[in-house]
Amino acid sequence: MASRDEVMAALAKVAGPDGRTPLPDSGAISGLTLRDGKVFLAIVVDAARARAMEPMRAAAEAAIKAIPGVAGAVVTLTAEAARAVVGGAQPAHGHAHAHDGPPQGGQTRRAAQPIPGVKSIIAVASGKGGVGKSTVACNLAVGLAQLGLKVGVLDADLFGPSMPKLFGLAARPEVAADGQKLVPLEAYGVKVMSIGFLIDEGAPVVWRGPMVMSALTQLLREVAWGDIDVLVVDMPPGTGDTQLTMAQNVPLSGAVIVSTPQDLALIDARRGIAMFKQVHIPLLGIVENMSYFICPHCGGRTDVFSHAGARREAETLGVPFLGEVPLDIAIRANSDDGRPVVVSLAGGAHANAFLEIARKVAATLAAGAPGAKPAPSIRFQ
Ligand code: ADP
Repeated sequence: MASRDEVMAALAKVAGPDGRTPLPDSGAISGLTLRDGKVFLAIVVDAARARAMEPMRAAAEAAIKAIPGVAGAVVTLTAEAARAVVGGAQPAHGHAHAHDGPPQGGQTRRAAQPIPGVKSIIAVASGKGGVGKSTVACNLAVGLAQLGLKVGVLDADLFGPSMPKLFGLAARPEVAADGQKLVPLEAYGVKVMSIGFLIDEGAPVVWRGPMVMSALTQLLREVAWGDIDVLVVDMPPGTGDTQLTMAQNVPLSGAVIVSTPQDLALIDARRGIAMFKQVHIPLLGIVENMSYFICPHCGGRTDVFSHAGARREAETLGVPFLGEVPLDIAIRANSDDGRPVVVSLAGGAHANAFLEIARKVAATLAAGAPGAKPAPSIRFQ
């Protein structure tokens, strides 16, 4: 494993943004992280010169990769020194990933590079946290696998990765035979990659803005996914710059929005929908989670929130409604134990609800071009 000093020594051979001063002395290094033999480096450049800085970026990456013991390196150009972000906090604003263009405006969809071997990538997103987005992502992925598809899951929720727990996975991924890529872990027939496998649970993660994109890029592109029909991406909650940048950088075929029936959650969900529309990513549909309450004692049903809000909203927005999942302690308990209900309660109503959602998503993907019928545009303050 290389040390910071070794990385800096290697970078001393690379000229910084002015073309003369060695990178370590240039003041342009805004972040350096070493983890499991992988090196993440961010270099601040003038946004207008981003293209001209590409050879410097590539040289820095090559210099780091040449250090013995370095399993991989990702060097990112960033247009602005980012503020530190502490796990759970909102990501720093306005950081620009110079390769890909800054996220502001976002009116055009950048042609994100496809992932070799991966046929389609779908995002599972929500306007806010705690609505069951990760639970839906996990059960949707396993459901798709049960339908016979080859499925992967990318946990892009760097600030609160939940896939290790939901899939009951704790091992560290191994480096593939080529020495370059990480081998995803596997559970319930699904290949899973999460930052949670690479960092210790409970350890406070301090992410710098540019690191978020670097980490996501690695989790997406430096993983030996093999042949995958559908890669399900569990997006971080919310609709900030980070989510927008991610949505632009991941070559998404479509997005599934998870919402609870409450009005507030729906307002957030609408924001999520607007975000994907902004970057022209087709909406595969809305899932209403915690739709109604099933009493664990009597099995009776209670509509805790005004039920069917998401279905109505989907109709209003012209976005497909994918299905509803009840609020049930069995879903939480099984999820917490790393047993997705599509497996642990197979054949039951909850499993069937998720399977139905998976079927609709699979059908839309099979039909191709889910965005062929654009939904009406909406505006937000
Ligand atoms: P998010 O990804 O939106 O933050 P999670 O999927 O992590 O949400 O879910 C938040 C909590 O709610 C978890 O404890 C999860 O087990 C629980 N949960 C999610 N969906 C349901 C449901 N339908 N019934 C009961 N508990 C649920």
